[in-house]
Formats: sequence, C-alpha cells, structure tokens
Amino acid sequence: MLDRRQFLKLGGATAFATLFGGCDKVQRRLIPFVIPPENYTLGEALWYASGCDQCPAGCGIVVRVSEGRAKKIEGNPLHPVNRGKLCARGQAALQALYHPERFSRPMKRSGPRGSGAYAPVSWEEALSLLMEPLKKIKAEAPSSLLMLTGPMRGHAGLVAGRFMKSFGSPNRVAWDPFGPDAMLSANAAAYGVRDLPEHDLANARYLLSFSGDFLETGISPVHYAREYGRMRGDRETIRGKFVHFGPRLSMTAAAADLFLPCAPGTEGFVALGIAHVMVRDRLTAASSAAGRLADDLGAWSPEEVEKKTGVHAHDIAAAAEEFARNQPGLAIAGTTAATCADGAFHCSAVALLNVLAGNVGKPGGLSFPNRAQAFAKYGPEAGLLSPSPESGYAGTRAALEKMRGGAFRIAFLSGATNPAFTLPPSLKFGEALSKVPFVVAFASFLDETTSLADLVLPVPTALETWGDDLAPVGHAGAITLRQPVVEPFHDTRSMPDILIAAAKELGGEPAKALPWGSFRECIEKAYGGPGGEMEKALQRGGFLGEASSPRSAVRTGGVSLPKAADRPLEGDPKAFPLALHLYPSIALYDGRGANLPWLQEMPDPVSTAVWRNWIEINPKTAAGLGLAEGDGVTVTSPSGKITAHVAFNPGIAPDVAAMPLGQGHTKYGKYANGRGENPISLLPAGETYALQATRVALVKTKLSTALARTGHPEGQWKVKNMM
Ligand code: SF4
Repeated sequence: MLDRRQFLKLGGATAFATLFGGCDKVQRRLIPFVIPPENYTLGEALWYASGCDQCPAGCGIVVRVSEGRAKKIEGNPLHPVNRGKLCARGQAALQALYHPERFSRPMKRSGPRGSGAYAPVSWEEALSLLMEPLKKIKAEAPSSLLMLTGPMRGHAGLVAGRFMKSFGSPNRVAWDPFGPDAMLSANAAAYGVRDLPEHDLANARYLLSFSGDFLETGISPVHYAREYGRMRGDRETIRGKFVHFGPRLSMTAAAADLFLPCAPGTEGFVALGIAHVMVRDRLTAASSAAGRLADDLGAWSPEEVEKKTGVHAHDIAAAAEEFARNQPGLAIAGTTAATCADGAFHCSAVALLNVLAGNVGKPGGLSFPNRAQAFAKYGPEAGLLSPSPESGYAGTRAALEKMRGGAFRIAFLSGATNPAFTLPPSLKFGEALSKVPFVVAFASFLDETTSLADLVLPVPTALETWGDDLAPVGHAGAITLRQPVVEPFHDTRSMPDILIAAAKELGGEPAKALPWGSFRECIEKAYGGPGGEMEKALQRGGFLGEASSPRSAVRTGGVSLPKAADRPLEGDPKAFPLALHLYPSIALYDGRGANLPWLQEMPDPVSTAVWRNWIEINPKTAAGLGLAEGDGVTVTSPSGKITAHVAFNPGIAPDVAAMPLGQGHTKYGKYANGRGENPISLLPAGETYALQATRVALVKTKLSTALARTGHPEGQWKVKNMM
C-alpha cells in the first residue's frame, strides 16, 4: 500500500496534482522548515484539484498550496459544472479550514444540553463512549438508531447507507432547506421524470424566469451564471432576451431586460396566464398538449391573472407572444416559487410553458440526464452514490415525531445543514431531540444543532479529506474526486472513517458491509487507486468526461393543468399588511456561511448591507409607515417576532417585505452570533417547507445597533430619485 506522499507523487506530473511534501501530522511545528520535506521548494506554489462542498452544486476547484498551507481556491477549468469559475462561498472555504473555532479534538458534553459546554477527550475515550451504547442497541433494538444528515453524495453516502442497513436501522433522514422537493414533484407531473433537468441556457433565445435565482443561490449558480453569460452575448448567434417575474428586485432580476414584479406566491398564476394566451392564440408547438388544456386554462385570462398577481394583462400577453415566437426558449422557476406552501403547483405551472413551447429534449431547451445509465456500473447501490437531492422535510418531521415518542436511543447528526436553525421553531427540534438519550454530532464547528449533542466527533474540512461527488446538474456522469490538499490541521476523522471503524468493532454484518480499512481505501478501490485510472483523474479533478446521453422517454403529451392549492399566507391582512418574502442569502446561503468573516463582510448586491440582517421594503411603503432607511423595526407575524433594520428596495412590491436568511445565530461562534435575529422564527410549520408562508406587520423601534452598508453615494442618490 502506498502512503499519501507516494500516492500524490505518482500523480504529480500534470496540471494540478503536483507534489506536496510535509507528511508530519502537525504542520505548525518548526521542524518541517528546519528539515524541509521532500519536494518542498520555498515560494513554489503547488496546485491540487478537488471539489467544493459549500453548497450542493458540486463545483470543481483547484487549490494553490505553498509552504504547506492552502492559500487560494479557484474554479477548476476542466470541471464541466463550473469551468474555472467559482462563487464567493467557494472562495471562503479557505476560512473554514483556518477557522480559530474549529473543533480540534473530540468533545464530551460537560454542561446542560444546548449550553455549548464541552470538555476535550481523547479519540480512544470518544470511541468507547460511542461504541458502548451502539453495541447495546445493535443487540437490543437496532432500529432505535437515527442518522440525520445533509444529503450525502458519492461514497460517503454509500458508506452511511450501508452502515445503517447492515446495522438494521431504516431511520436515515437527510435534511436540506433548499432541497428541490417541489421541483421534483413538478417535474414528475409535467415531464414524467422525478429528477432535475439540464437547462440549456447557453443556446436559448428567450428566458422566462419566475423568481429564478440562478445567478445567486439556485441549484448550480456558477454553472448557470456561465451559461447565462453565453446566452447574453458570449456566442455568435443572437443575444437572448430575459424577462423576470418575482416579488423583489434581486441580483438575478436586475440582470433581466424586463423585470415585472408580482406578489409572492403568485408566480404559478402568472405562468398560467401566459399559458392561456399561448393556447388561445395558437402559439403552442404542434406536439404539445394545447388542445386538451384549452378549457381548463379558460379561467386564467391575463385580466384575471392581473387581479391575483399585480402583473398587467398586456405584459402577460406580450411575454406569451415573445416567448412563443422566440424559440428555443426556457421557462424556469426559482427558489422563491419552489418554497411557497404550494411550491409544486407553481413549479408545475412554469414547467407547463416548456411543454407548450415544445422545448423539452431540444437544444436551447431542457433535457433530463440519464443518471441510471451513467451510474449503471454501481448496480443497486447507485442510488446511494447519487441520491435524489430531496430535502427530506417530510422525513425530518416524521423523525421528530418518532423522537418525541421515544423511538430513538441514539441519534447521529451530521452534514452542513443545521436543522435547529433552519426548521421553523414551532417544530421544536431541540425539544424532540431531548427525548433521545445519546446524541452524537459529526461536526467541524459548534452550531445550534451540534450544541445539543452529548458527544462531538470532529471532522476534517473538505480541503483535508478524501471523497467523491456527483453534481445534480452540469454534467451527469461526471464524478468529482476530492483529495486532501493539506495535511489535517487538527486531530479529526471523517464521518465515513468513523463509521468504517465502528462497523469493524461491531463485527458481523456491519463489518462485512464496510470491509475497508479506511475511507481512502474505499475510494481507491472504487476508482482504481494508485497506479490506476484514479491517478490521472485526481490530477484533473475527477472523471469529468463521461457524459451520459439524455434520457429519451420524457412524457410531454399527457400533461394536465396543475391545480392551485388554496393556501393563503398566514395572518389577517388587516393586522399583518405585508407579505413576507424570505430568500437565501447570496453570501450566507441558509446560514451555514455566517461564521466566515469574508462572507459576513461581502456586501449584499442589492442592499449593500454587511454583517447584519435587514428587512427590505418599498420606499413608498416606508413613507406610509413613517420609516427611514436604517430605522429599527419589530417584525411581527402570527408565529413570532424579531427586530431588523429597514433597507429600501425600490424594486419590491409595495405590499411585500423581504428578508435574507442566514443571520440570527446564537451558537455559531463569534463571527455569527448576535448579528440580528433569525427570520425563520416568523414562520409557521406547514406540511411543506414554505418560506413564503406568512404576513407581517412592521412597527418602528429603537435598536442599539446600526445597519452597516457599503453603498456608493451615487447609488443612494439614484434610490432617492426613484422614490
Ligand atoms: S456554487 Fe456551491 S459548489 Fe459551486 S463554488 Fe459556489 S458554493 Fe461551491
């Protein structure tokens, strides 16, 4: 068996995976510089290819390493998802690596749950604390083990899945607040495929976006930003036109040729209005299901839609005609449309436009990758490697109910998601977890969820570990390989490594199911290892060229009109006059980036605010409420109350208030804590994970803090003149 140094050395002759010496465990010691490690040259940078894990998009990265330290992350130019580009969150992964608040060793709870009080223990003691109850429940009640993680792809997912199956517990739940559940349901209904399509923006002539956030926080923002760039000018054919409907002037909306504000939760109605005009005026593709839908669409005339949405009837008719006459085109729904209480309806209504335009399976339209073909060689376990990226909201709620009923004796918590922070408080995640006698967190940082654990097992960051990944869009069939670009800075072990060691100790079925000595060995066995194909792939960042052919059997003829669910926003409009629109932050995403100073100090592209949360309202609404920019307000919904600073957005509907997610942490370290309050606490707990679910009232209040902004004075002047 080759050690890491030998392995990297073998792979060192090409673009990225060059030699990196210094295999001593603790690189902070002076000794590596007194006796330089093999192939170490002062001042010479080495580049390693790997994969970003800061969001589910799965971009490829290259990391510049110099003097044993990772210095800069760039996009991997060979990677099909991001082609050399990288977003700010991907860049900031470097700060997670060097973060002063990382867990550096296993920790055992030393105070009440949730207090964040822990005492360090050795790995030996930590593993014995883990194994003793694990062995007991394996013998007595294996299904009382719960594993609640973020979506786990690649062999980490395979290891976790095999561990739970061989242990005898079916209770494996994945939670991701922006998992595209609604889009998957809509795609199943409209196209007959429960998967995410590839949108061929680069070749589209016309783009209709319904709260699309593809330039900021969508499913793959770097990938689609690049595709969008080609559509808008970086190609030889004509420049595509972009029309955006949505409740707020976002960064994506600001890039459009035409931004047409609509009330939150009405995107699907606008889409049906456009569908009505296309069918009425015979603007649909010959192959589409137009004839069958004509009667059902009768109720969605532009005039009726205008009453529900606030979008003028003539704008709806004009968009319909332009969309139909400028094919190939695309209609896409974004996070806001998908996170309404009836998100599946809104996404289905938008998907209907693609069916009517006949752009499914065509260049410049959308197509579904054949994942089954791409991963056929993995047989029945392919689903563990490339799981459907659903959020598991229903599964998480069911798990909470079981927790309350005492069904679990041990809970494993892991992943980038932080359910104690991202779930509505009325679900009482902490209270439910308190019914589980022993909670183990696999984590790099303390946060609201980890602080509820009895034992914390510290895990390395993505820059310090082996792994593989399969991106949801961009290039189905491509596999990203992760490798340690530096030696682990702390005494950490990856979750798959811990599960493999635990399986060995348990013996029997778990030991058979996880037969490797380490996770690295698991990866090497899967991909050929040193001297095999994996070596070359590591240098490029993975197996990046194996595109699957698109799935051909996509149903487009049997589509029916989606039914609008009658789910009004919570709250009486008289008491709560503004519809609350919550959206993922371009910097902090769902809050996971809030502990990284680079992301905290990155100005929001619309409000220019930093380090704090704010509530955006139309300047006219503010004038009516007697509010000025920067004023403090209490934001009250029927479910909760928080405070925030007012920021003007002239491009927001007058009866809408918008807040980004991400701030409001209480247990996420010094850079995240106390920087405003969590707007999720304003939400009710519904059947679906709905961010567009409530109305709010604003009342001026005095706050001890101020809103820091980085806006240019000229920009402020323009805002004043728009009022
Ligand atoms: S889009 Fe996601 S995966 Fe890609 S660089 Fe940004 S954070 Fe990383």
